Amino acid sequence: MQNKVLVVVGGGAAGFFCAINAAAANPQLNVIILEKSNKLLLKVRISGGGRCNVTHACFDIAQLIKKYPRGGNFLKKAFHHFSPKDTIKWFADRGVLLKEEADGRMFPVSNDSSSIVECLVHEANHYGVEILLQQEVQQLIRQGDKWIVSTAVKEFNADYVCIACGGYSRPAMFQWLTAVGHSIEAPVPSLFTFNVKSHPITTLMGVSVPDVQVRIIGSKLVERGPVLITHWGFSGPAILRLSAWGARELSMIQWNFKILINWIPVYNENTLRDFIQQFRFEKATQKMINRNPFNLPQRLWEFLLQESGIDGEIRWADLPSKEQNKLILHCCSHPFDVKGKTTFKDEFVTAGGIKLTEIDPETMMSRLVPNLFFAGEIMDVDGITGGFNFQHAWTSGFLAAKKIAALSASVVI
Ligand SMILES: Cc1cc2nc3c(=O)[nH]c(=O)nc-3n(C[C@H](O)[C@H](O)[C@H](O)COP(=O)(O)OP(=O)(O)OC[C@H]3O[C@@H](n4cnc5c(N)ncnc54)[C@H](O)[C@@H]3O)c2cc1C
Repeated sequence: MQNKVLVVVGGGAAGFFCAINAAAANPQLNVIILEKSNKLLLKVRISGGGRCNVTHACFDIAQLIKKYPRGGNFLKKAFHHFSPKDTIKWFADRGVLLKEEADGRMFPVSNDSSSIVECLVHEANHYGVEILLQQEVQQLIRQGDKWIVSTAVKEFNADYVCIACGGYSRPAMFQWLTAVGHSIEAPVPSLFTFNVKSHPITTLMGVSVPDVQVRIIGSKLVERGPVLITHWGFSGPAILRLSAWGARELSMIQWNFKILINWIPVYNENTLRDFIQQFRFEKATQKMINRNPFNLPQRLWEFLLQESGIDGEIRWADLPSKEQNKLILHCCSHPFDVKGKTTFKDEFVTAGGIKLTEIDPETMMSRLVPNLFFAGEIMDVDGITGGFNFQHAWTSGFLAAKKIAALSASVVI
């Protein structure tokens, strides 16, 4: 009897992980990766500034799923089967050690993504995975109990198909997948920075503030963390997280919205007023420009004084109450009109994709058509920055592989 065939569509992180683990678990299975470009594992190579942020040192599943604006609940069960700990072990067992950075992101100790790329390519070769480049899959047809997978140049017969083709940015790109019966959540960009291009704050480009609260007016979206002022607006972890959580809501308003920034979120307007009353009494003779009580970057402090109409040369004792009120507002509720977005260092993730209600979270198998699997970003799952997107690619690729290996092993004679 002929060996069973698995065709994996896409030579990225999820596709490789599925192919390798399926081939390793069932040596009788013929595994083929079809990749449309002439490059393998491109995003693994360029991610994390060329270091590859493989996963995140978040080992509590309840906490881990909170890092996924879409798909967290879906991944809950999946992470019980393959979690960041398993990723670390999987690579360590193959000689690639990962290290944790202060913020929890994990990279290969080599600080070089080629360690990950070489490991995956080596494992694929070791288990005899066939890799074909410049094979863009255009059609999937179910014929009897087989799949016919067609590219522009060739047709492949497969018993199992795993779709690991990454995120698609336009609904039309999903056509070959919707044709087999699946439906999608419309794709929208996630992980972007906010434009306030003409605002004078952009003169402070390069200033980074470690602890800021940013609230999007008219929504429940609020994040706290580092913010970087750029020549076009705001970037940094707090902004990227807001962009991820608000991806769908913000796309509906064409990325035009208002934000309120609290530059010193340990205070609100009332507690800051109390603090300033006390401070101006204690430091009465000191010049406001010299005595920045909040440890804010000096350029930002000067900007806030200026925006509040305060001459920095005056003494704290001489601060008029009208200007004091303005300063409190600018410190705690500084309003900005965001007009548009900018892609973050070419790093972006697509929110949207194959609807999760149509996929079994424990096996990544289609609930609609037999022997069809999904892995990685093609599904309606996306995480915030920090290695969570790759973790989803490893987890879903592994679970699809496990099920395919089990199904194929049970039928091989
Ligand atoms: C610049 C950048 C940096 C990133 N950095 C990080 C990071 O540090 N940490 C993190 O967790 N995430 C990061 N991400 C996100 C992460 O790279 C993705 O979530 C992850 O690569 C998804 O893996 P995937 O295998 O699902 O898709 P991909 O890596 O996109 O792979 C899909 C593959 O399928 C191929 N393909 C598409 N359609 C077809 C078709 N019809 N036929 C055949 N092949 C097809 C594509 O050419 C591609 O090679 C980054 C993304 C970018 C763009």
